[in-house]
Amino acid sequence: EVKRSGRNGWQFFTRTMQVVSEKRHSLSNKLATAIQNNEFSVYYQPIVDLTESRIKKCEALVRWMHEGKQIPTDEFIGLAEETGRINEIDRFVLERSSKFLTQLSHQYKHPIGLSINVSPRVFSTKDNSLELWLDLVTKAARHLDITVEMTERLLIDESDRIMWVLTKLKALGVTIAIDDFGTGYSSLSYLTKFPIDIIKVDQSFVKRLGEDRIPEALTETMITLSHKLSLEVVAEGVETAQQLAMLKGWHCDYGQGYYFDKPLAENEFSQRIRKQVSALQI
Ligand code: C2E
Ligand code: MG
Ligand code: MG
Ligand code: MG
Repeated sequence: EVKRSGRNGWQFFTRTMQVVSEKRHSLSNKLATAIQNNEFSVYYQPIVDLTESRIKKCEALVRWMHEGKQIPTDEFIGLAEETGRINEIDRFVLERSSKFLTQLSHQYKHPIGLSINVSPRVFSTKDNSLELWLDLVTKAARHLDITVEMTERLLIDESDRIMWVLTKLKALGVTIAIDDFGTGYSSLSYLTKFPIDIIKVDQSFVKRLGEDRIPEALTETMITLSHKLSLEVVAEGVETAQQLAMLKGWHCDYGQGYYFDKPLAENEFSQRIRKQVSALQI
């Protein structure tokens, strides 16, 4: 009895593993041709200055439309990181978004900053990915206020190379942000060791504001700590007026989340900025 159910359990396990691995394999093949087939696009999520209630920047987020279906970002970013394909995607997003925002800022004579995600892969790949990426950032930074978002994990892994890159980025006038702050290996010492400007409090904390004392205490503490270190704070995943009120009470600098806007397609984002510009002119 026991043996049989044990063996069935094992068979079920390998079958599931096989399905998962086949799915990943086919997704990986599709990923390989997605760029040439024009399947990627970029969406823009407003980042709002909480003192002025105004959009100051936006985060560029990649979207993958494959055969009429949107593939969830979390399903392919990890895979693209494993295969190294992510570097190409990051370059596509950077090129596309900086072109779009440069044009938009000109059109409305209203500069909007651009915040981009970069995969840790670009710093460890042995090919010329880092060079290509830095070239694109250099070009973009000539016309735009650029922020580069990276995760804490990076700052622990490869500090010499990272320090060199961060120093170079700072010299270009680029702002450095730590994404998903509070979820990683936060040893905190890196906050003073590296030239960091902004922390983005992870949405897992923000989501529970007004519901639980612990994320509230942690969020308030992250904001206070950041300000003491002269860093600015973006709260990610703001969804309710109550969360916003708490964040404002703690003097959080920026907010991003569905309460303000979802990530928007180019034309939608453009309309959004147009609205803001005309409201300012009244
Ligand atoms: P992230 O950089 O932390 O981006 C924020 C994510 O939170 C986005 O998910 C955004 O759509 C979502 N979000 C924003 N506001 C809210 C809210 O109020 N509620 C909830 N529930 N979610 C909200 P998305 O676009 O699915 O991206 C997921 C992750 O994929 C990103 O997390 C980032 O780590 C990665 N990613 C996205 N685009 C790129 C890219 O171009 N390059 C790289 N390397 N990674 C990217
Ligand atoms: Mg991000
Ligand atoms: Mg984040
Ligand atoms: Mg995230």
